[in-house]
Amino acid sequence: MNEKTTAPVTVIGLGLMGRALAAAFLNAGHPTTVWNRTPAKADQLVDEGARLAPTVGDALAAGSLTILCLTDYPAMYELLDASDIDGTALVNLTSGDSAQAREAAQWAEKRGARYLDGAIMAIPPSIGTAEAVILHSGPQPDFEAHQATLGALGTVTYLGADHGLASLYDVAGLAMMWSVLNAWLQGTAMLRTAGVDAVTFAPFARQIAAGVAGWLPGYAEQIDKGSFPAEVSALETDARAMAHLIEESETLGVNAELPRLIKAMADRSIAAGHGGEQYPVLIEEFAKPSA
Ligand code: NAP
Repeated sequence: MNEKTTAPVTVIGLGLMGRALAAAFLNAGHPTTVWNRTPAKADQLVDEGARLAPTVGDALAAGSLTILCLTDYPAMYELLDASDIDGTALVNLTSGDSAQAREAAQWAEKRGARYLDGAIMAIPPSIGTAEAVILHSGPQPDFEAHQATLGALGTVTYLGADHGLASLYDVAGLAMMWSVLNAWLQGTAMLRTAGVDAVTFAPFARQIAAGVAGWLPGYAEQIDKGSFPAEVSALETDARAMAHLIEESETLGVNAELPRLIKAMADRSIAAGHGGEQYPVLIEEFAKPSA
């Protein structure tokens, strides 16, 4: 966590996440003003010391920093298009994509507001603990001006000046999460046909996932250099093992869609002449639009 501050803060949007954010600011000793379209959702926060602003305008004027946490970006425009945001500092923790973040930054700048975009990679109960990872992007001086305050929410990370970066890291993280989980579910489905339960397989799966994670820095260097010498294994060797995975899945009567998708990408790369190179050469398939 960062150094302590008790700067006044406003939180607009008191859904499941917004309420957790406001509670974390209160716990850290920040005078906290809140506003929500449905005011009753502020009741508990008010009991805990928050001030419920009567209007959005009042809420925006109250804090040196305003956190937005709404369903989506259209909700933000619907709410704030009619408000004066000139001179405010906004941190938008509403989930969206990178284009929406960049567009919102331009919208805010035109109207005289300082704007940071953010992404919350955490669930409400973890907000206010180091476990809650919260990503920010936008002008570095704005981040630094509010870093200590934002630190009340969790582990706060600054990614760079491009407002779209927080959303991009967010979806990249989700791609990692679902890919690892799907691979584990594939393995679990196969092993269950032999009476091996999920709990028995899990420690082995975890070991494999950790081992593969250890390859990433070296593979990343190959990608950045654009050079993929087969130091450990050639893609065509991987592709033969992928064929076994498909055959085994089909024989066992478990779903083979994921193995077929993986092999289809490898086959395209091999057809393009990359069979003798190492696995991360597949970045060239991932980096272009889907077939
Ligand atoms: P939620 O419980 O559905 O709350 C949505 C909030 O947006 C409510 O305060 C709602 O007001 C407000 N809202 C929606 N449309 C509005 C409009 N047109 N005008 C004014 N207010 C409007 O959702 P949540 O779980 O708090 O999520 C909020 C954001 O955090 C989302 O972008 C979500 O993706 C992100 N997030 C959530 C989690 C999580 O685990 N919950 C994790 C990471 C990121 P009312 O109360 O009046 O309906």
